[in-house]
Amino acid sequence: MKAMVLRRLCNLEEDTSPLEMANLPEPEPKTAELLVRVSVCGVCHTELDEIEGRTPPPNFPIVLGHQIVGRIEKTGTKVERFAVGDRVGIAWIHWACGQCLFCLRGDENLCDQFQATGRDVHGGYAEYAVVSERFAYKIPGVFVDAQAAPLLCAGAIGYRSLRLTGIENGQNLGLIGFGASAHLVLKMVRHKYPDTRVFVFARSDQEKIFAKELGAAWAGEIEAESPAKLQGSIDTTPAWQPVVEALKNLDKGGRLIINAIRKEDRDKSAWLQINYSRDLWLEKEIKSVANVTRRDVEEFLALAAEIPIKPEIQEYKLEEANQALIELKQRKIRGAKVLRITAQ
Ligand SMILES: [Zn+2]
Ligand SMILES: [Zn+2]
Repeated sequence: MKAMVLRRLCNLEEDTSPLEMANLPEPEPKTAELLVRVSVCGVCHTELDEIEGRTPPPNFPIVLGHQIVGRIEKTGTKVERFAVGDRVGIAWIHWACGQCLFCLRGDENLCDQFQATGRDVHGGYAEYAVVSERFAYKIPGVFVDAQAAPLLCAGAIGYRSLRLTGIENGQNLGLIGFGASAHLVLKMVRHKYPDTRVFVFARSDQEKIFAKELGAAWAGEIEAESPAKLQGSIDTTPAWQPVVEALKNLDKGGRLIINAIRKEDRDKSAWLQINYSRDLWLEKEIKSVANVTRRDVEEFLALAAEIPIKPEIQEYKLEEANQALIELKQRKIRGAKVLRITAQ
């Protein structure tokens, strides 16, 4: 099968073609697995982190990509939930043990044996992918394949972040950074918590205007003083300064969720500006969000279908994966980037 593979870590400033086209053997599904013919695979910031080594794949070559939509071509002998021809999605959580303390309490995202799609096992930048039927999802009929793909990552992790803030309808929410995940969170909040006011902190004017169009109560600079105290906030930036700024705007007992797989070291010294009495005292909390659980993906897909949330899409061919990644790195963003692998 055709696949775009990563053979080694590299620096995208120097190497603008990190992936190369290869011909890999078509995978064979094990007893409880599905062989999925990939229709589309979303392109995510996490791929940049994998390529540049912030969350490195353990083995090479590796096929990246964890927002996969396709159709089942073959099933293992013990598959019960799905049949050949069904449309399914595959997300970042590829497998967890199901037996450890974390898995048993529903935190399978924290399982020591957690395997990520497109990092620990081959992902969706290829014609085929395999997944255990336990970790595949039915895609609601309202979505075409390309619309569903970005929901499987940015949407599901955004949903988890929102869940972890613990906010209730009517409480104020801050969004620091306004990329793919944050704009989906804003749409979810408008539907799920109609009386909640959302305050967006972003660098670019374009993002601020977009936030207001989508119903944000206010949009301003990352460093700005929030016009109202925030009971919950979600930071999706790669930097440290925004975290310090966000803490200052939290209400007493408020919680900041950091939704970033890794933070860059460039402005780490910003931490030194933390003022304990202003930024942390009075029971403010900071919590990160790691990975997603099946519950997040399933609940989010149902919510997205109900609202409905239909992301703007920019399609590339599989062969153009490097171009899509570099444009993502350079923040040339016109909707969620999706690789089109087979015609729908
Ligand atoms: Zn992702
Ligand atoms: Zn486990």
